[in-house]
Amino acid sequence: MRTLLLLTVFWTVRCLAADFDLVLANGRVMDPATNLDAVRHIGIKDGKIAAMSETALTGGKVVDVAGLVVSPGFIDLHAHGQTTSDLQIKAQDGVTMALELEGGVYPVAEWYASMEGTAPTHYGATVGHISARFAAFHPQLKTGQWASGKAKLALLGPNPAGANQVAGEAEMNSMSAAIRAGLDEGALGVGFGINYTPAATTEEIEALFRIAAERKVPAFVHTRAFGIAPIREAIDAAKKTSAALHIVHIGSSAIGDMPEVLKLIDANRAAGLDLTTEVYPYTAASTLLESAMFNPGWQDNLRINYGDIMWTATGERLTQESFERYRKQGGWVIMYMMKDANVEKAIAHPGVMIASDGVPFVDGKGHPRGAGTFARVLGLYSREKKLLPLMDALAKMTILPAKRLEAHVPMMQHKGRLAVGADADITVFDPAKIIDRATFEAPTTPSAGISQVIVGGVFVVRDGELLKEAWPGRPVRAK
Ligand SMILES: [Zn+2]
Repeated sequence: MRTLLLLTVFWTVRCLAADFDLVLANGRVMDPATNLDAVRHIGIKDGKIAAMSETALTGGKVVDVAGLVVSPGFIDLHAHGQTTSDLQIKAQDGVTMALELEGGVYPVAEWYASMEGTAPTHYGATVGHISARFAAFHPQLKTGQWASGKAKLALLGPNPAGANQVAGEAEMNSMSAAIRAGLDEGALGVGFGINYTPAATTEEIEALFRIAAERKVPAFVHTRAFGIAPIREAIDAAKKTSAALHIVHIGSSAIGDMPEVLKLIDANRAAGLDLTTEVYPYTAASTLLESAMFNPGWQDNLRINYGDIMWTATGERLTQESFERYRKQGGWVIMYMMKDANVEKAIAHPGVMIASDGVPFVDGKGHPRGAGTFARVLGLYSREKKLLPLMDALAKMTILPAKRLEAHVPMMQHKGRLAVGADADITVFDPAKIIDRATFEAPTTPSAGISQVIVGGVFVVRDGELLKEAWPGRPVRAK
């Protein structure tokens, strides 16, 4: 009898304790969607936020996060590194969703299938114009690899047709079909890197923008060149075709024209164009040296010279000789081409989102933006430089990217927010300590001050430690 009574008591306690799978107790909950900034207890059940309470909650696991900020997990709209280890580095920067929207992928279904069960963060991609174009011109080429940085463009020789030849009717038909197929397979929009396909005429871009408009998905665009003129080209194409437009990495796209570019964007938004942009918080860019970005004329276009380019594998600055040698070989470079004052203008500007443009790390080398973007904005630009309030900085990495996508990606209505019913994608950090640690010398060093990162209710970072076997990331598709 006594045993039975004890058992009953035990079960009652257990049932109460199991109200929630996980409770984050006593945290300073900051939700940019509602501007809530208050101590709350968050109860998580079945991967969703099931309660947000002013009084204590009980759960299977209770983690006391007193004194720490509890934020929606950071959504990175621009992440080229999509391997497990690239995404683990991003998770340690507070990222719970890393999307490849600029370069995109192709074929789309194949890429989503390849990601299944490998991702610590949620993942998704656009269908990529670059890959579709190379597929049209080089049917022998295995495409779809731009996103993972495995594309051996250098193998195609110095002037690949995919980048440098004007498309005829056959190639246009092939690209249109590829883009339609990608959207049928759930791609999140159409990604363009016009700078990498200089032979793509304005007519070609407009024809493909029309598909985006017809399917009600945005075009995510790296413009034809740098400065305000090519940004105007993209905006004019969006106006003409009624496509929604997102211009990527405005820091490197606008370079010295930043003040005028921000005015141009504001004016078009005010006039009703569905137009957004993003920035990464660094003054150096990064790309593949063999790409068409370095076709003759690059010095004028990028407004830099050999010595402003670093060969990532060795850290050496280039000369004309090493530039030519490495361009034949192919590989990643870093270009020192922006001014901090212009990057700061974009970070502080209302509506400009934060996205990393993180490129794949190769043997631990690469651009630190893939590891430190989000902590750098929160620690350096918000806390130390006081460029923008913490809530505004968080909005740029949570609710604003969610809203960019939610009209055509219904699942995004449950992301980027802390609310009952929202998905439990959550980042917990110390606002006094969060900071990036990745540098150009040690680019994969994880950010500091981020203690918990939860993806769909599952810890990926726990008490500041990466859980290497935690791969709870789910696909993000347009339907
Ligand atoms: Zn780009």
